[in-house]
Amino acid sequence: MTIDLHTHSNRSDGTDTPTELVENAKAAGLDVVAITDHDTTVGWDEAQEAADKVGIRLVRGLEVSTAIDHRSIHLLGYDIDPRDVPLVEELRRVLDGRNGRVPKIVAAFQRIGIDITEEEILAKSGDAGSTGRPHVADVLVDKGVVKDRGEAFDQYLQPGMPGYVGRYSVPTAQAIRLVKAAGGKTVLAHPWSRGSDKVLTPDRIAELVDFGLDGIEVDHPDHSDDQREGLRKIAAAHGLVVTGSSDYHGTGKTEDFRLGANTTSPEEFERLLG
Ligand code: AMP
Ligand code: ZN
Ligand code: FE
Ligand code: FE
Repeated sequence: MTIDLHTHSNRSDGTDTPTELVENAKAAGLDVVAITDHDTTVGWDEAQEAADKVGIRLVRGLEVSTAIDHRSIHLLGYDIDPRDVPLVEELRRVLDGRNGRVPKIVAAFQRIGIDITEEEILAKSGDAGSTGRPHVADVLVDKGVVKDRGEAFDQYLQPGMPGYVGRYSVPTAQAIRLVKAAGGKTVLAHPWSRGSDKVLTPDRIAELVDFGLDGIEVDHPDHSDDQREGLRKIAAAHGLVVTGSSDYHGTGKTEDFRLGANTTSPEEFERLLG
């Protein structure tokens, strides 16, 4: 059983349609794939139809933009009721924040003499329910300002860089409560990637367990072997489910992020979603 519990379609900042994502997952030899777009469930129905057709088990999920101390923390939610009103309302706030940020990003780039427009960014997000910095990165790539998304983040889009603009995120503990109340399961996505080990200390993770955290994504392309070992110990100490996944984004992120690059064991999958 090959299980990948974190992937993106073009309903957020991946490049595959939900159908292509599922077909590619099948072709990559996966038995189970989760669709986890940023702050939206709009890809679920199409993905489910494709999954039924090609014969693969689909897990319906999303990746919620949350924060602790102004640091971005991603929370995976699985098997929620997509009509749960408090959760949907909070996701609406995040999505409104994403849309409201677009003109501010354009202004930030104008200030440094780089000419991009709202229309160009929105053309990149296209069918997405959720516009993100990777779409801005794609515009910069098209214009020859940078060579790829990674360079766009390094030079312009990450915090501290001139094209960075913040947006609303849900306090992490509140996001856990909302997902749980919507009948879902919660897993911290890449808890120690990109410096988030500074905020997600072992004590902080213990607090989140009290709010209902179910698992942590230990095996993720951003984590070193040492980080994985440390996270595995924390998971064992709290009885948290250990997951592994690719965080596939289609051609938006390559190399280590291919489907099935990291996987979740059938035992842990059963504990989380069985
Ligand atoms: P946003 O939704 O605008 O907050 O952007 C989040 C997306 O940007 C996620 O898909 C991240 O994987 C991606 N991302 C964040 N930081 C970087 C980085 N330094 N390099 C490449 N992608 C990044
Ligand atoms: Zn993404
Ligand atoms: Fe993430
Ligand atoms: Fe992700």
